[in-house]
Amino acid sequence: MPTVYFNGKFIPENQALVPINTHALHYGTGCFEGIRAYYSEKENALLVFRMQDHYKRFLQSCKILMTTPEESVDKLCEITTKLIQKNFEKIDLYIRPLAYKADRAVGNFNLKFLKNGLAIYTIAFGRYLNTDKGIRANVSSWRRIPDNVIPARAKITGGYVNSSLAKTESLLAGYEEALFLDNQGHVMEGTGENIFIVRDGIVITPPESDDILIGITRLTVMTLLKNDLGITVIERSIDRAELYQTDEVFVVGTAAEVTPVVEIDGRIISNGKIGKITADVKDLYFKLVHGDYPKYRKFITKVEL
Ligand code: PMP
Repeated sequence: MPTVYFNGKFIPENQALVPINTHALHYGTGCFEGIRAYYSEKENALLVFRMQDHYKRFLQSCKILMTTPEESVDKLCEITTKLIQKNFEKIDLYIRPLAYKADRAVGNFNLKFLKNGLAIYTIAFGRYLNTDKGIRANVSSWRRIPDNVIPARAKITGGYVNSSLAKTESLLAGYEEALFLDNQGHVMEGTGENIFIVRDGIVITPPESDDILIGITRLTVMTLLKNDLGITVIERSIDRAELYQTDEVFVVGTAAEVTPVVEIDGRIISNGKIGKITADVKDLYFKLVHGDYPKYRKFITKVEL
């Protein structure tokens, strides 16, 4: 039975239960993170990727929703390290912190006066999308949630209804992922990934002021493209029709890692193969997260038994 961290204690997962009337369950008032830890056989350790940065973003999300836990970034990292040690297995792990409104959901929408709960749990996690062959995606009929509706820049549980509707529509239509437009028709991101396109050797990705989550993988990939591959990266809004004309498209995220997109709305991208820039940055990313890129070791927290 895995251990979870639940409101100040490490307890068996089957004892970490919330009442049926919990506010977050009714109204989607929770903030979460998704962190990966890769098992390294060479080091016999789990290598947690950018844990500090994930917890910094966690607290930023919590600030918007007023679900800030008592624990600091350092304390959250310390708790997570202990939790990984308790659940240590020689496999890749996904770590899920959740800060949520724990009061009873009856006639109370004042976030300021609602009690917060905190849970952190881990699950075994392999590939999320097909990073080897690439995926087929469609442009969703659902639009991305705007900042003045539910801020996409925060990982708010209720906001993921938007992702669930879009992903379900795509899967039912035979695609593997959905790409969101905003209400002006610009391309925002996937349901759990940021998007990059390649045009004439230049890489383009939507800016932070668009309705996107400011992904940690996005920042990592931008660094690799610029500093290690010497490629120009431009942050600007992307039109829908550009998707059909680009040389390469890839999506990135903690779960999705670097996943090539080889078809969008029936248009074949890059002859249905993985483009050169996508392949190069994907290789570097995998090397980095597995601890084999000394220059970026600072992004990794090594957890041993
Ligand atoms: N966009 C959305 C909507 C997401 O849920 C995620 C996954 N957290 C991402 C982008 C990628 O963010 P990150 O690289 O920090 O995982």
